[in-house]
Amino acid sequence: MDSKSFEDFNFSDDLMEGLYTMGYDVPTPIQQLVIPEILQNKDVLACAQTGTGKTAAYLLPTLQRISELKIPHTSVLIIAPTRELAHQIDQSFQGLAYFTHASSIAIYGGNDGMSFEREKKALMEGTSVVIATPGRLLSHLRMGYVKFNLLDTLILDEADKMLDMGFSDDIVAITQFLPEKRQNLLFSATMPAKIRPLAKRMMKDPVEVNIAISKPAAGITQEAYVVHDAQKAKLLLSLLEGKDIASILIFASTKLVVKSLEKELQRANISCNAIHSDLTQERREEVLLKFRNRNVPVLIATDILSRGIDVENIGLVINYDVPGDAEDYVHRVGRTARAETTGRAVTLIGPKDQSRFAQIEELIETTVPKLELPAELGPGPEWNPLKKKSFGGGGGFKGGKRRFNNKPKRKA
Ligand code: AMP
Repeated sequence: MDSKSFEDFNFSDDLMEGLYTMGYDVPTPIQQLVIPEILQNKDVLACAQTGTGKTAAYLLPTLQRISELKIPHTSVLIIAPTRELAHQIDQSFQGLAYFTHASSIAIYGGNDGMSFEREKKALMEGTSVVIATPGRLLSHLRMGYVKFNLLDTLILDEADKMLDMGFSDDIVAITQFLPEKRQNLLFSATMPAKIRPLAKRMMKDPVEVNIAISKPAAGITQEAYVVHDAQKAKLLLSLLEGKDIASILIFASTKLVVKSLEKELQRANISCNAIHSDLTQERREEVLLKFRNRNVPVLIATDILSRGIDVENIGLVINYDVPGDAEDYVHRVGRTARAETTGRAVTLIGPKDQSRFAQIEELIETTVPKLELPAELGPGPEWNPLKKKSFGGGGGFKGGKRRFNNKPKRKA
């Protein structure tokens, strides 16, 4: 596949502005594959997990089409299984569409009558994009005031999860309220056989796209420690002390933890810096430069650093906690052993993270060795993860990632 840049898609200037503000420089593989198909009005059946950039893969081309509409109307309906995912999609929408005229409503309800009324009012006033959970949307549709007669595109996100949750009939019922002639996009983290009948019923000759989850490079030695939360900081120190490794990158999921680790390491006289979304762009660049130039050997980061930013020759990556999903894990550990060199990646697995780590192992098809804790730390917990049926993305909102901020930044 020839690799594409966002410039190749001829998006409107307003949309490009949103993209750069979100910090997206290069389309992810799923975006490269599906954006041209969606722009050509084809139906698409895509298998892609959370973390692959699937949301922007369908939002960007649909936003482009909205910008070309002569008469504004509700043109896109996105159905998602959970409130969390619907909210997350809406947030991505708000970021990407910030400089465009497109608007959205998220319909996922609360338990009070007030929120139903609010949604009803918003639906009647009209909007470019409706993002909804199936049951709630159906309740509104059955009241008769929602007008989808001009709808151009129906998008199902996490279709596998919707089927698991028993929404199949609701989805079919919703389609009865939509124009027959429309574009259909179905995204799913997995492609179980039961998706096929739904796809067949809804879609016309869909283009099928499958994004295999990436795996860590062969040169990376992956290891893990199963720990109690109270053992983590001490273990981290023992992993760092006396190590003669040029560059060490430590990842933690929240900026709060990143900041407290910075203090902890400084107290132990380990020269380090932290990088997270509270820092100004200038300070981030300064910190990165020091790390790149080897003036500061240890960098502690949230996931903003796990994608995109290139630092060569990192000898050791430590995951102070288990990342949100497999894609994040691959990005984090991929900071070491770049360009066919070798490197080590060590993950600290706290009691609450065991199942997530087991799912990551399943997806990267690797059993990461669990090392024995240093004797002075005492025994850790048993490695006993509860296996879940499938790794569903599931809308876990990922903090610490590329965040929308109000300062547009153009590519230099
Ligand atoms: P998703 O798979 O849609 O849940 O997206 C995963 C994460 O990747 C989200 O935090 C997005 O904001 C981010 N993302 C999506 N597309 C890109 C891109 N082209 N470059 C950088 N980050 C992206």
